[in-house]
Amino acid sequence: MSAANRQFDAIIVGSGPGGASVARALSLRGKHVLVLEAGSDAPVDDSLWTQARVMRMNFIGGGVPIIKGITSGGTSMLYFACAVEPPLDLFRRHGIELAEYVEQVRKEVPIAPIPEQAIGPRARRIFQSARDLGYDWEPIQKFVYARRCDTSVPYNARWNARSFVQEACRNGAVLETRANVTRILSDDLGVRAVEFRQSGATHRAEAEVVVLAAGGVGSAQLLRASGIERAGRGFFCDPVISVSGAVDGIDAAREHPMVAGVLSSDEGFMLADMTLHPAQYWLSAAQRLHLDQLPHYRKALTIMVKARDEIDGTISRKGRVRRTFSHEDQERLRRGRECASEILENAGAKRIFHSFPIGAHPGGTARVGDVVDANLQTEIEGLFVCDCSVIPEPWGRPPSLTLLALGSRLAAYLDA
Ligand SMILES: Cc1cc2nc3c(=O)[nH]c(=O)nc-3n(C[C@H](O)[C@H](O)[C@H](O)COP(=O)(O)OP(=O)(O)OC[C@H]3O[C@@H](n4cnc5c(N)ncnc54)[C@H](O)[C@@H]3O)c2cc1C
Repeated sequence: MSAANRQFDAIIVGSGPGGASVARALSLRGKHVLVLEAGSDAPVDDSLWTQARVMRMNFIGGGVPIIKGITSGGTSMLYFACAVEPPLDLFRRHGIELAEYVEQVRKEVPIAPIPEQAIGPRARRIFQSARDLGYDWEPIQKFVYARRCDTSVPYNARWNARSFVQEACRNGAVLETRANVTRILSDDLGVRAVEFRQSGATHRAEAEVVVLAAGGVGSAQLLRASGIERAGRGFFCDPVISVSGAVDGIDAAREHPMVAGVLSSDEGFMLADMTLHPAQYWLSAAQRLHLDQLPHYRKALTIMVKARDEIDGTISRKGRVRRTFSHEDQERLRRGRECASEILENAGAKRIFHSFPIGAHPGGTARVGDVVDANLQTEIEGLFVCDCSVIPEPWGRPPSLTLLALGSRLAAYLDA
């Protein structure tokens, strides 16, 4: 094992948007970086098979699943590629100026709306209906290579964090895949090493800087295993449902999801057009016993509703998530569902039904101002966190652009 018992400038645990961003930026600054990733770097595409192979779930109260990607590139290998502007004021309140790093990321990754000619008939119909009803239904910025986009929705039209991991490796970073980090070793002077399991054996790699980027559940678990018991509280994950109904005059295959929508409403929910995978559509129709809708995938319009979650769940040392959606969470979701149904009805949809909720964007378990400081450092000198765990307040928006900017800022701090 090439990385074992070797000294690095920095070890990054996890390679989703948070970890990939730090790894790339540090490697560009000439640092000797080791990336330890629990998943593999086997190719991922849009097929159900490869997506299922890298997908893992945690279940919260009531059996609600939270989906995450265990692979190089993390959950961005499964995401819908929305590049949503970080809430700069929220971060400023916590001592973090993010604007210059967001600008920097914008220069480094492709961000654009889905080009007009690649927008499918479902998204168009929903757009028209929402606008007719007076919703501020706007095109969403996406992590996409606009020139590669067409109506067949090629997977490689999407940017994901794996390309940053690959760039880091071209700059000399070492990527160890199927390397499951179990704990961080430190002494009175600070962080010393990382212990991980790979190929059935326990290994150790040394560095005075370790960045945990194992995601909203994984990093909290590692912090607790490494002696920071305060981590793991304040967990949030935004409840998401899909609302669907069949319309006449549409006969479509899959198309780009989340082309346009309302990103933040005062009422705390987000709406966007959605194209489900056929299997997801059949599952959501069957869940609600709308069996007559099963044959209508090609006619179905779907709107995704995502509500802003409160901060009050926990992660145990073993990574078990405890969280139930409160009355307020359910109310926000119900209100969003009403709006989605109104838009679908106005578009001509009949027999509208909605799926059971899933949890999205798990985070909040190592919040800035609680477990980490404004430089994302924990109480252990040299141990940092850079993923969804550090998000300090409930916010209900897709986090990837924010995480890329936080990673870029952390690399600049570490190199100063
Ligand atoms: C279906 C879906 C659609 C989404 N759409 C969007 C969207 O449109 N826009 C958006 O911004 N966000 C979206 N998201 C959310 C977004 O993908 C995640 O919030 C984001 O990837 C989180 O980044 P992260 O760095 O915190 O963690 P992750 O991306 O989850 O990365 C964590 C990494 O750590 C690794 N890891 C975990 N534990 C260990 C360990 N012990 N040792 C070593 N490695 C470990 C994992 O394998 C993984 O690679 C979506 C999510 C899903 C599920």
